[in-house]
Amino acid sequence: NRSDVHYFGAGPAPLPTAVLERASQVLLNYKDKGIGLCEISHRSPDANEILADAKNALTNLLDIPDDYEILFLQSGGSGEFSATVYNLVSIWVEKKRAKIAEEVGDDKAEVVRRLRKVVDEELKLDYLVTGSWSLKASQEAARLVGAQHVNVALDARKANSGKFGVIPPEAQWNLTPQTSGGGPALVYFCDNETVDGVEFPAFPQSLEGDDAPLVCADMSSNFISRKVDVRKYAVIFGGAQKNIGNTGIAIVIVRKSLLPPHSTPASPDLLRELNLSVGPIVLDYPTIAKNNSLYNTLPIFDVWVAGQVMAGLVNTYGAKRIGGQEEISDGKARMIYETLDKYPNVYRVVPDKAVRSRMNICFRVHGGDAEKEKDFLAGAEKKGLLGLKGHRSVGGIRASNYNAVTLEGAKTLVAHLEEYAQSS
Ligand code: PMP
Repeated sequence: NRSDVHYFGAGPAPLPTAVLERASQVLLNYKDKGIGLCEISHRSPDANEILADAKNALTNLLDIPDDYEILFLQSGGSGEFSATVYNLVSIWVEKKRAKIAEEVGDDKAEVVRRLRKVVDEELKLDYLVTGSWSLKASQEAARLVGAQHVNVALDARKANSGKFGVIPPEAQWNLTPQTSGGGPALVYFCDNETVDGVEFPAFPQSLEGDDAPLVCADMSSNFISRKVDVRKYAVIFGGAQKNIGNTGIAIVIVRKSLLPPHSTPASPDLLRELNLSVGPIVLDYPTIAKNNSLYNTLPIFDVWVAGQVMAGLVNTYGAKRIGGQEEISDGKARMIYETLDKYPNVYRVVPDKAVRSRMNICFRVHGGDAEKEKDFLAGAEKKGLLGLKGHRSVGGIRASNYNAVTLEGAKTLVAHLEEYAQSS
């Protein structure tokens, strides 16, 4: 039974039971129409209302300014690794093209010749690699535009014997300088690394200020769990399946100045001439924005679930008050970490204290002894504590403390941690 279980899976992750109960109803019969939510047209007034409600709830929770657009895509988180590259490289190239064209006029061949040189010499995408998801994103960028254009401004493993788990001081980062002629096409980081349990404690200072670069952040696993100053970002994205909803959609918050008419993407012909790949239309932010996220069939049921979860938070804490959720998330995480720290001979938290994730709490039992970790998990399972196994790439234990994990769930986990430590 659902009420006998506390689920700590990293994604897909638990959803509020009340939302799932309503979901099971609307799947069969939406608003007494006799048809279910997966059956109605994504272009119907109902679908538009669902989209608008989800956008409103997110706008309220994160206090999203008017000069930002919210997009829903089927891309998943990984699709956005590619989308950020396609969209921002395209804008970077077009800006350079326009500048060169001002100098050389109509001579298209000369524009392309000069542009090729500028791309070769200047195109850089900066990645802060602090865990396996930002690593994957940087690898996707290298696959799309060539490794020579990817500047790994930080590889946190180098400061920690080859393993993730720290974020070295900003003075040690090797960011592409911001110059009058431009800087990197983007600076990318993953706000919370789901596998490695590393979370940025705050927005990096070196990415702030008047000449700040275009910052793209992956918030898949800590979306709507703390206050965010949206204005500091060019793009924020996340897959829904952790803190927001079920698998199937990604949410993108993009600065409107990066969309037409403020910014123009480079033409596909030009990108091809420069040997830069042309992105698929379903990842093209201008196209998705122009069509209110309905360029193609959007899974409206997924948007509905996300909307219900977010409206639940708005109702609980009031508009513009994600702070209420933040306190609860922080409180649950603190309780679990304090218990782990209390038994240093039994438990070892994987990441450095300063960058411990509030969302994915990664630790080892008895130095990572495989049998003992198995015992720990078996004991947890007997108490209905599920989904605690660490990611297959790193092993160990991972307790994902997303919004839908209740205080009671966190307390039950703490009780298991205590009991296991005292009996071993
Ligand atoms: N980014 C982060 C931080 C993630 O945790 C994940 C998935 N666990 C992804 C991206 C990839 O998301 P998806 O599986 O939706 O492509």
